[in-house]
Amino acid sequence: MREIEKIGIVGSGTMGAGVAQLMIQNGYTTIMYDIDMETVGRAQSAIESRLDRFVEKKRISTVEVKTMKDHLKTTANLSDFHDCQLVIEASPENLDIKRAIFKRLEEVCSEKTILATNTSSLSITEISGQIQTPKRVAGFHFFNPAPVMPLVEVIHGLKTDAETVNTLVVFAQKIGKSPVVCKDTPGFIVNRVARPFYGEALKIMNEQVATVEQIDRIMKKAGNFKMGPFELQDLIGIDINFAVTKSVHSSFHGETRFRPHYVQERMVQAGSLGRKTKGGFFSYDT
Ligand code: NAD
Repeated sequence: MREIEKIGIVGSGTMGAGVAQLMIQNGYTTIMYDIDMETVGRAQSAIESRLDRFVEKKRISTVEVKTMKDHLKTTANLSDFHDCQLVIEASPENLDIKRAIFKRLEEVCSEKTILATNTSSLSITEISGQIQTPKRVAGFHFFNPAPVMPLVEVIHGLKTDAETVNTLVVFAQKIGKSPVVCKDTPGFIVNRVARPFYGEALKIMNEQVATVEQIDRIMKKAGNFKMGPFELQDLIGIDINFAVTKSVHSSFHGETRFRPHYVQERMVQAGSLGRKTKGGFFSYDT
């Protein structure tokens, strides 16, 4: 079993920042990279202010928060990942981007580094298809918000070896998560089950059967869901959710129950992506 001490995060958007926060909260040295250095800076500030709020609420001490902050590094150069034992990629849900990143990671990281992807739906086998060492590539799928949500899907591609999967399972347990090992199938478990939750909600809204507010309220009050389908799409990012739906739909060769909705597409075209752009199905001040 490989020992993990230093973790690299590629992409510091919603998930990259959440996973980085989770890692430093668990005492791991973590180095964050993004193609856009401004995004890394914003992610670091957002993580630090979330940690400061824990101090205000007296959940952890100032000293503990300082140690966590000290564990977080940023870089503009992927070659700084050379001594990481684990790299978690959280770039956009786009096969070409992820494949290029994995190729580069293979060049800069040691042969022993586990290369994981936080993809929600893309094939692990395909992401790692062009690299020399696909046995150390696996899916490590956290849920949003990563520091809070307990489940992690550990996905083995066709060529992932057992040591990689076992190391990720043990590591997930170490950081307080509940890992579930999944096969490399479109959308794995959760994102496949969740597709109709969003798809039917969009159809109900578009047919004017009910408004977004009504649908969310009903699902929460009557269905006991923590969030309604629209609030959840805003949290996830409508662009990410749309990309996941397209990927699951095309991977199942056009199965109609997974068909994306044009309302999602229009919102992506308009740049109304949810919380991250302060507006999606709902508006947000912060
Ligand atoms: P996001 O759009 O918030 O962040 C993506 C980040 O990747 C951006 O900061 C962008 O600048 C950066 N990026 C773009 N190209 C890059 C490159 N070549 N190298 C490095 N960084 C690059 O996306 P997100 O919501 O954080 O999603 C990231 C991944 O996690 C996706 O695969 C998504 O499917 C998955 N995921 C998302 C959620 C969610 O709720 N948003 C949940 C689970 C998994």
